[in-house]
Amino acid sequence: MNLYIDFGGTHFRYCFDESELLTLKSDEIELIEFLESQINLQKNIKKIFISFAGQVKNGAILSAPNIKIQNVDLGRYFYDNYNVEVFLENDLNCAAVYEYSKYKNAKVLALFYIGTGFGSAFVIEGKILRGKDNIAGEIGHIPFRKKSFKCGCGRDDCLELSVSGKVFKENSFESSDKETKKEFLDGLAFAFHTVLNLFDPDVFVLGGGVVKNNPFIFDFLKEEYNNSSFKAIRNDLKISISDIENANIEGLKILSRG
Ligand SMILES: [Zn+2]
Repeated sequence: MNLYIDFGGTHFRYCFDESELLTLKSDEIELIEFLESQINLQKNIKKIFISFAGQVKNGAILSAPNIKIQNVDLGRYFYDNYNVEVFLENDLNCAAVYEYSKYKNAKVLALFYIGTGFGSAFVIEGKILRGKDNIAGEIGHIPFRKKSFKCGCGRDDCLELSVSGKVFKENSFESSDKETKKEFLDGLAFAFHTVLNLFDPDVFVLGGGVVKNNPFIFDFLKEEYNNSSFKAIRNDLKISISDIENANIEGLKILSRG
């Protein structure tokens, strides 16, 4: 039996094989304790697949700007102590793999996810773009506007500090002041045109709570696309909004089948 987990900044969701998805609060989860209790309770867990909202590599968590967690080599720990294999994948890579499964002929799929943070992921001709340290696609940490506070990554001028749900007043774009709104849209447009020019994607998927609560973002980016560079020679870009809540878990399941 496989255990699938989606460990996000807010929610912690999990299921066994095709069982129903259960949801807990991320800030109430101590990951190693949770995994050990499930292994002891279920007995027949063979593999654990975790979609994680942070930077991971070869079974180890490298960093997690939005989650309080110890950086441990989970893969090694659970293999040595329980003979259970643990696979970790960045959450947006999981979501991008799920989205790509709907566009098998796409050359480049780009995913923007705006929620607690701002991230992106890319699937290029069927392969996740990883980079040397498996941290390619961290669009939220490109320098943009300087702030008086630090980002989880160590800088103080990341795009994520202007383009994410945490900059809004009362968690709402509409309730936020004019300057916050302008900076959010400026940052989003900057990120969008950067990706358009660097990767020339044929599919662009938008996801996350901020996109869901602010559907105008879809039209805003369509308009940006219509005014993009080289518009005359760009074939139509398909922009879509992610249609399921648990794309990360579905992506993990695709990855678990190899
Ligand atoms: Zn940062």
